[in-house]
Amino acid sequence: MTLFEKSVAGRSAFSFGFEEDRAVAERYVPEFARAAVKPLPQVAELDLVRHFTNLATMNYGVDTGFYPLGSCTMKYNPKINERMAADPRLAVRHPLDDLTDNQGILQMEFELKESLQEITGMDDFTLQPACGAHGELTGMLIIHAYMRDHDARRTKVLIPDSAHGTNPASATMAGFQVVTVPSNERGGVDMDALDKLMDDTVAAIMLTNPNTVGLFEENITQIAELVHARGGLLYYDGANLNALMGLIRPGDLGFDVVHLNLHKTFSTPHGGGGPGAAPVGVKKFLADYLPIPVVVCRDSQYTLDENRPHTIGRMSGFYGNTAVLARAYVYIKMMGRDGLLATSRAAVINANYVKALLSPYFPPAYDRPVMHETVLSAKGYDKYGVTLLDIAKRLMDYGYHPPTIYFPHFPPYAEEVMMVEPTESESKETMDSFCDALIKISQEAKENPDLLLSAPHDTVVTRVNETYAARHLVTSHRDKKGT
Ligand SMILES: *Cc1c(COP(=O)(O)O)cnc(C)c1O
Repeated sequence: MTLFEKSVAGRSAFSFGFEEDRAVAERYVPEFARAAVKPLPQVAELDLVRHFTNLATMNYGVDTGFYPLGSCTMKYNPKINERMAADPRLAVRHPLDDLTDNQGILQMEFELKESLQEITGMDDFTLQPACGAHGELTGMLIIHAYMRDHDARRTKVLIPDSAHGTNPASATMAGFQVVTVPSNERGGVDMDALDKLMDDTVAAIMLTNPNTVGLFEENITQIAELVHARGGLLYYDGANLNALMGLIRPGDLGFDVVHLNLHKTFSTPHGGGGPGAAPVGVKKFLADYLPIPVVVCRDSQYTLDENRPHTIGRMSGFYGNTAVLARAYVYIKMMGRDGLLATSRAAVINANYVKALLSPYFPPAYDRPVMHETVLSAKGYDKYGVTLLDIAKRLMDYGYHPPTIYFPHFPPYAEEVMMVEPTESESKETMDSFCDALIKISQEAKENPDLLLSAPHDTVVTRVNETYAARHLVTSHRDKKGT
């Protein structure tokens, strides 16, 4: 029931300054705007509290249970991050305040940049982009501008077929033509295909390593050498750096541009589309192209550098999503060098542990060690009349958020695959219980497939029609009533 349906004319919560509020509204909100406001629900305070508290308990999140969503890195976000980001000394500051008053924020952002430079092996960073796709667009615009100045023939970007869907979209938005590089039988880039495609019309290759199926790109050094030798640049999609921190640096591998999803790797909450931050790191020769302003330190004063002659311009208002950056900053400072290294080791061990437990029931597409996530197949279950979707739905009855399903969708993964990312923050007990549930479901599929076909049974909302909402769009309460 919506709050509108609970509305009773004349009912309201206690309010001290009702007349005063009305007077203020009449004074400052123009008549046409007030007229446009739909009537708000009229409910008592208790109705309001119960409505939203009950809604909140219908939610599933990392704080309520295991959330093994592959590619999304749904790991635990330490609560101290929230405490620090909400500290009034940070929260009340405004980017239009005088820079001398915002020295603390600028120092934090400068030190965050320094940490990210050290973690990735890059020379400079912008903190502006607000999500991974935005970071990719920023990096692609930088490469586009660089090539415009140095070799305008280069109008194409190579992207492996295993790439995250945002990669081709971002390259296209930046004005490039996208060319797909096929994968080889070991799940890496097909080197012969790359050799043929890498000519003087190619500006860059966009790579994710570990790639989107959690595999480390074995030929990364050869790829870097080949692309550089023929005049191209290397872009690194570092959304999921939690498998590599302290172990390998993209900058050392030869990458020229990198983006990081702080809202995945560096423990800032995400999901439902926001909020995020995806800093973009570059090698020195591209630093002049970074979006302005860039946070710098001069004579022990932190300031905003607007003087980047080749800048691609601004990618967002002001200088970044400060509250998200603050969470990542606290996380990095708390973990330290050793902590980040331990994080990556745990992420890799956990993914391989889950893979080992589940492989007899859901075989992996490639039988080689994975990095932070593993892709498993439910292909054989069609003989019991159940699909991967049914298995995922049944998992909800066991109290788990299902993993990513039907992704990636390129051969040989194209059918019935799930991608599981346990992340480093889960215990052995949690992973054991989760795997037990999936193993039990694989048994149920054989013995009682109807259980799966009608699942989930124990959730607030049970099986939904997956396409109904898209085909019968309801965009407001009024539409629903047909008025
Ligand atoms: C999540 C992800 C992205 C996109 O990040 P958003 O913040 O969702 O825009 C890009 N690449 C990879 C590999 C990802 O996992």
